[in-house]
Amino acid sequence: VLAPGEAATTIKMPVPPQDAGELLPGWRLALGFRDGDPLAEASARQARFYLWMGVGVVAIIGVLAVMVARYVAEQVRLARMKNELVSTVSHELKTPLASMRVLLDTLSAGRYRDEAQLRRYLHLATKENARLSQLIENFLVFSRLERGQQQFRFTELSPQELVRTALDALGEKLTGPSCRLNTQLAPDLPAIRGDADALATVLVNLLDNAYKYTNGEKHIAVRAYAEGEQVVFAVTDSGIGIAPDEQRRIFDRIYQVDQSLTRQRGGCGLGLSIVQSIVRAHGGAVEVTSEPGKGSTFRVRIPVANQNAQTVNR
Ligand code: ADP
Repeated sequence: VLAPGEAATTIKMPVPPQDAGELLPGWRLALGFRDGDPLAEASARQARFYLWMGVGVVAIIGVLAVMVARYVAEQVRLARMKNELVSTVSHELKTPLASMRVLLDTLSAGRYRDEAQLRRYLHLATKENARLSQLIENFLVFSRLERGQQQFRFTELSPQELVRTALDALGEKLTGPSCRLNTQLAPDLPAIRGDADALATVLVNLLDNAYKYTNGEKHIAVRAYAEGEQVVFAVTDSGIGIAPDEQRRIFDRIYQVDQSLTRQRGGCGLGLSIVQSIVRAHGGAVEVTSEPGKGSTFRVRIPVANQNAQTVNR
């Protein structure tokens, strides 16, 4: 109740003072809050709540938009990769099949001079067949690795034996007249733990690349030596080499330095990505040192079977 002339300075009044009526002339009735204005505080609280809710919703929409954009980009990348893979693989399959057909047509039509030429043609057809098989094998291994369905059977392996298996798989390719192969296997190497077929695939891919990417007379060396708790397999060639900025990308799936479909050397750009996946599954690492025009060395490091491993020297 405000006396005549009294101002309501100490209280907040959401409702303006009203005259008390005829019985109390000059007096006024006021309704207000003594300590702050709870209504204003409540509305400020509400406003803050809506503001943060708005910020939260915008942030969630932002995060969702980024996730959707990433998902779409990944799908586009996969679709492009599939298309590239299909076109390179079909091209690679076509080449050996076409040369085998020409060779077999020639032979079945009897168009050869003597038995020596017949043998040469058959030998060429066998080579094309082997190339086709290796291509398909690589493709199947790649597909299993991608789907996480590659089963590794780990056993103790002799590094020397492994190198010999890989060299045998490549047959006469590396012992032909235009190729000098140098094999240096350190004696008393410790056993490694790994999948014999998968590790042979690793070495076959590296040796095949050393052969493919060396022009003219080829000098290829394969070495195996122990370093710390690892056995290192090194494949060196005297080939075309790899530019420094390409050296990391060559391990990517279907990456080829020369990406034109008309390139001469064959392959789908799967070999080194397979090598890397297999080596990583063995707890190892693969690295390359290379100088364009001089040659390359690929080193694969595989951990020894156990630290007190007995040496295997078969
Ligand atoms: P590809 O089937 O094309 O040989 P890889 O995955 O085995 O596929 O190799 C990827 C690319 O790395 C090759 O296309 C080639 O350009 C380059 N490369 C691989 N090995 C060598 C090498 N020893 N010397 C030079 N270039 C190489």
